[in-house]
Amino acid sequence: MIIAHTIEALEEAKKTLSGSIGFVPTMGALHQGHLSLIQQARKENDHLIVSIFVNPTQFLEGEDLDAYPRKDEADIKICELSSVDILFMPTVNTMYEEDELCIGAPAVRGYVLEGEKRPGHFDGMLQIVMKLLNLSAANNAYFGKKDAQQLALITQMVKNYFMDVHIIPCEIVRDDKGLALSSRNTYLTAEEKERALCLSRSLKRATKLVMAGELDVKKIKQEMLEVLQEADSVEYVSIVNREFKALDSVEIGNTIILVAAWVGKPRLIDNLWI
Ligand code: AMP
Repeated sequence: MIIAHTIEALEEAKKTLSGSIGFVPTMGALHQGHLSLIQQARKENDHLIVSIFVNPTQFLEGEDLDAYPRKDEADIKICELSSVDILFMPTVNTMYEEDELCIGAPAVRGYVLEGEKRPGHFDGMLQIVMKLLNLSAANNAYFGKKDAQQLALITQMVKNYFMDVHIIPCEIVRDDKGLALSSRNTYLTAEEKERALCLSRSLKRATKLVMAGELDVKKIKQEMLEVLQEADSVEYVSIVNREFKALDSVEIGNTIILVAAWVGKPRLIDNLWI
């Protein structure tokens, strides 16, 4: 595995590759969720590039940029064991210059849910993903459904900017109790980790209701909020179609149920595609 810290080193390393390239961008502190993306990309491509970059422009003022878990040594080992060809670990100065040209999230879909609660987050996210997709020159790039709105916006960016890459959505990976894996779960105490299960439990409750024929969004949300009482505070429970437009009634095959809540230090998100 070649570890590249600069653009020049990345370009040099890419010269050693021939055939299709799969790409998995991450912010590191790798867990099984990342690993499932890496393994899928490994299977579906001749070569595999992974990036680890904690992108400052997608963190808002007061968010956990400085505290964000960094585990470079362990991450390098994981990538080596996963047969990654190139691990790209740039510095902030490598990725950004002063007075940058910026792209922005779309005015509607980019400013509901996560975009409403974290204004500016998606601008920074799209900025870095555009750069990384261009640098990797990947044929296929892998993103988790865990960040459903992020996935939708990246797919839209690739479409709107006629970018020559396939965006591959990957399933959410959970621990054995149902908690969606996240690098931020390391902030949770044991007691909080138990309470954090209310997010996935609320989604399970929603599944049960839908399976029993209940499609009314108001009723489903009400029941979910009951389950979510274990969280310290709930930021949103939302039921939208795949275009991120609010629904009154669940549309089977075209619905995402999303939840964001605080439990202890971290703000957690989870979702379910129906
Ligand atoms: P991050 O390092 O949090 O920026 O995540 C990098 C990629 O891994 C993103 O595409 C995430 O959606 C994806 N990811 C993170 N957690 C999970 C998970 N539990 N299951 C599936 N994909 C995930």
